[in-house]
Amino acid sequence: MIIHIGIDDTDSPNGMCTTYLGAILYRELSRLAEPLDLPRLIRLNPNIPYKTRGNGAVAMTFEASEDIIPEIKDTVLFYVSQLADFEHENTNPGVVFLEGDVPNELRKFSLRALREHVTIGEAEEVARKVGAEYFKFKLGRGVIGSLAAIGYPLERFTYELLAYREREYWGTPRRVNEESVFLADKWAYPFSYDNVDPYKRVVLITPHGKDPVLVGIRGIDKGKVLQVFEMVEFEEPVAFYQLYKTNQNTDDHLTPKRIGELKLYDSAVVRGWVASPYWERGRHVFFELEDETGKIRVAAFEPTKKFRNWVRKLLPGDEIIAAGGVKEHEGILTLNLEKFYPVELVPKVEYRKPKCPVCGGTMKSKGDYLKCKRCGYKMPKRLIPVEVPRDLERKIYEVPPDARKHLSRPLVLPGGEERLMELL
Ligand code: ATP
Repeated sequence: MIIHIGIDDTDSPNGMCTTYLGAILYRELSRLAEPLDLPRLIRLNPNIPYKTRGNGAVAMTFEASEDIIPEIKDTVLFYVSQLADFEHENTNPGVVFLEGDVPNELRKFSLRALREHVTIGEAEEVARKVGAEYFKFKLGRGVIGSLAAIGYPLERFTYELLAYREREYWGTPRRVNEESVFLADKWAYPFSYDNVDPYKRVVLITPHGKDPVLVGIRGIDKGKVLQVFEMVEFEEPVAFYQLYKTNQNTDDHLTPKRIGELKLYDSAVVRGWVASPYWERGRHVFFELEDETGKIRVAAFEPTKKFRNWVRKLLPGDEIIAAGGVKEHEGILTLNLEKFYPVELVPKVEYRKPKCPVCGGTMKSKGDYLKCKRCGYKMPKRLIPVEVPRDLERKIYEVPPDARKHLSRPLVLPGGEERLMELL
């Protein structure tokens, strides 16, 4: 019989990682039953406030004989109770078991958990309807992610290899030879990507928190991902590693919406017209975007760095496709921009001083009139409108790798552009 297992919300900023627990469970359960695929790391709605880091949940599926099912469940519950960080108030683990095929209703729930906000009650109701067994620890909010990870239709996927640290190293700086990561990346890019940021010359595979992850290596080709792992030189022991199948970098979270429909915590792609010149506050860049159904404030926040320069080039009247997450910023519903595509740009007009009609010299502004610097000729100030290039192309502009959401598809990957365009 087929058994699906989902786990979520076992970690906190003080330690642990649901994928670490998932890797241990996958290893232990593979002794009892036959794994039907790699374990799955499913990223859910990135705008949810309760997330520790990337709103990830883990699921795995086994073919098991009926008499071993109780042992499988006991093993899962034992490891969750031993390893989850129960001390932290925001850690509310949930475990879900589902036997048999995944019903359609559960698939729909997963897509809602990916794109919208759902409640613990809604998750429990779906679990009851589809006959899933669930266990809540503390508030048990993790049942949302656990259930959604089981039901997730992983039609598009990528891989991530996660390597973990020995316990005595948790909380200390990660020791990985940086040069070896640059070399490995050069060899595998773009089939394995996001290993380094070549512009900032920084390594991206090492996280910075107290969690047990040593490195995470991503790619669309699992052979290349494994080879990058082989090529990286570790200057501390690797406890163990696990390859995950994941919905990271698929753009699965983006749903086409009208601006008037946008709700708090939605992940959406909208098409509209820039409705205001940009303005800045605290190094964040904002503008307004509208369509026939409404208007929303759009933000490119400070961590998106140079991406903000492209946003500053937008003018009122430009038609764009914008993708991002809806959050509340200073009490106002704001689309947190992940990428945009200029569809139709208005002409940009600059007003320039004419040349001197007498000698061709350069004119200087003097209040209401212009005066030639060379011959002194004076004339009323009448400026000439000149259309200047817009400096924006018809292509997708995206935030840099370290500001990118786990689910966002980087443009270097096949389908990176097409998928966004397909949505609208
Ligand atoms: P990590 O990435 O290290 O595993 P995390 O960022 O995944 O950490 P969690 O500790 O898993 O953070 O917390 C996310 C919580 O939000 C979980 O309890 C999960 O069930 C819940 N959750 C996930 N998706 C939704 C959603 N769409 N609506 C409401 N709650 C959600």
